[in-house]
Amino acid sequence: YEVTMDALVSLCKRRGFIFQTSEIYGGINGFWDYGPLGVEMKRNIKACWWKSMTQLREDIVGLDSSIIMHPKVWEASGHVGNFKDPMLDCRETKGRYRADQIFVLKHNSDESALMFAYHENAPAPAEKKIKKIAKGEVSDYSEVALLDIPLEAYDKLVGPDTNEPGTLTEPRAFNLMFKTYVGPVEESSNVAYLRPETAQGIFAQFGNVLSTVRNKVPFGIAQIGKAFRNEINPRNYTFRSREFEQMELEFFIKPGTDAEQHEYWVNERLKWYEKVGLPEGRMHRDIHEGDALAHYASACTDIMYDFPFGTQELEGIAARGNFDLTQHQNTSGKKMEYRDEATGETYIPHVVEPSAGVDRIALALLCEAYREEWINKETGEIKTAEVGVRRAPEGHEARTVLRFAPCIAPYKVAVLPLVKNKEELVGKARELFEQLSKRWKVFYDQTGAIGRRYRRQDEIGTPLCVTVDFETIEDDNAVTVRDRDTMKQIRLPIDELEAYISNIVDF
Ligand code: ATP
Repeated sequence: YEVTMDALVSLCKRRGFIFQTSEIYGGINGFWDYGPLGVEMKRNIKACWWKSMTQLREDIVGLDSSIIMHPKVWEASGHVGNFKDPMLDCRETKGRYRADQIFVLKHNSDESALMFAYHENAPAPAEKKIKKIAKGEVSDYSEVALLDIPLEAYDKLVGPDTNEPGTLTEPRAFNLMFKTYVGPVEESSNVAYLRPETAQGIFAQFGNVLSTVRNKVPFGIAQIGKAFRNEINPRNYTFRSREFEQMELEFFIKPGTDAEQHEYWVNERLKWYEKVGLPEGRMHRDIHEGDALAHYASACTDIMYDFPFGTQELEGIAARGNFDLTQHQNTSGKKMEYRDEATGETYIPHVVEPSAGVDRIALALLCEAYREEWINKETGEIKTAEVGVRRAPEGHEARTVLRFAPCIAPYKVAVLPLVKNKEELVGKARELFEQLSKRWKVFYDQTGAIGRRYRRQDEIGTPLCVTVDFETIEDDNAVTVRDRDTMKQIRLPIDELEAYISNIVDF
């Protein structure tokens, strides 16, 4: 990897991608804010998804449902009953841990076993530390919770003589939904939940959407929005947060076409990931089979990315049958059927659900884009810097660059007047800046040497720099356009500039 998580977290803070939420009060675990660059980038991710779903296709429409819905929605969906993680309490630290993140350290004696878990507030490297403790390489147990539990309980938890978590009988089930009250009275009849996924808003509005758009099956409803889960162990930076954003599609299909539609959507989504800058080599399919499948699902494939902290899920694509619509039909008493005008058949459609996390995609894109490079001053040749070597070798210059796909980059173009003390030149550059700003997010910068200004743009991932110089105003009405990745420059008439930029940066 080009980037360690420490370097990435530091860059994200320094450059204004991601901040700890309410940092001035010490933050709150599992919540993050996106700074000036982060918010642009995140909006671009969502825009690329939305365009691919609702603009480039005729068979998908959008929806924006509310975060708080009728609590019956969550009873019908099964979230009130089943949306739980197994949790253990540590007697020693009084901390709480997700049971699947508890590891066996050793049998302590004949009567008890020593186990360890991530402390809820432990920084990411705690995981590394645990491995070291397990190998006997360190004996500093801070940040790590130790659970000295009776052997009998241990056997029930993990099975005798094994390090693999087995049937979790001991831990308590912990519902991940955030609860609140609607109205001034805090009583059980007023309980409501912050949605733990956006999908149920789509199912609950299935009838209304169908009757307004009159689409024929197969058709889809897409939604982007916040979701909330009271995760027991938020970790890996923004990867597992308590407040996050989802992009979900419910694609309603004819029963019996589930397998082919599922395969189709896995491929579509992988193409999308490639287009936004996650290469095939770091993307994987994790195909769920047997017990790993929910009882109502006929197929589920997770789309995984090789993060610096391991291969982890970005998106789940599940063929959910008609479980959700049937549940809502049974609970609400409202019909959730579709009538096929051609055949006269009536049925509850099945559904394929690609469900992606915006924050996880943003994190993957940042990991993927980060590069430290050395540029040969004579030949302009670019090579990847050696890991851990701070200084570029003789005759080379170092640069940090975010090689975002242009559609994802926070700024698409930077407009740079060659000098700042020539009124005509600056005037032309400002004019160009205003023209381009009507279509894209553009950076204007007139301070410092031109080389240094290019570097600044490299560091925030701006794909194109447009320089206005003396020739522009005196001679050719053309500009110099510099490419972030190759650092090559071309001369382009201003008349052709918009078409050129659009070709590169638009999704
Ligand atoms: P995990 O197994 O990692 O908890 P999940 O399988 O429960 O995830 P889904 O319920 O399938 O996740 O949610 C769909 C998508 O929403 C995930 O692929 C992920 O991108 C995103 N997501 C889910 N939980 C979180 C979270 N706590 N923080 C950030 N994104 C999340």
